[in-house]
Amino acid sequence: MDCLFCAISRGEIPSKKVYEDELVYGFYDIDPQAPTHFLVIPKAHIESAGAVTAENSAVVAHCFEVIAKVTKELGITDFRVVSNCGEQAGQSVKHLHFHVLAGRDMTWPPG
Ligand code: AMP
Ligand code: ZN
Repeated sequence: MDCLFCAISRGEIPSKKVYEDELVYGFYDIDPQAPTHFLVIPKAHIESAGAVTAENSAVVAHCFEVIAKVTKELGITDFRVVSNCGEQAGQSVKHLHFHVLAGRDMTWPPG
């Protein structure tokens, strides 16, 4: 399987790491949309939020634990977590990822 984020989490493609453990990888987005913009991904390939099941959902909770930990370490209290699912919603990489955006005012609803 040819997946960009699988390759990044294995270290085959360079990235600016913000967090790593055996289940999850975190790295700064190459095209930041806010002063702080990093991605948290499960190392296991899950295609999108629409492919989460009872069997693989534990890592999703772990991703959120990591998000809370990393933001705290970075001194960030206010942030937005986004996961785009499907092309219409703006998903360009088909490996589940959570965008963490911070450091500027955010608008609602998202565009
Ligand atoms: P999405 O469009 O929601 O699927 O998000 C994919 C994100 O991955 C975008 O914000 C891209 O800027 C980011 N991205 C793509 N390639 C890389 C890369 N090599 N390193 C870091 N971020 C990347
Ligand atoms: Zn993948």
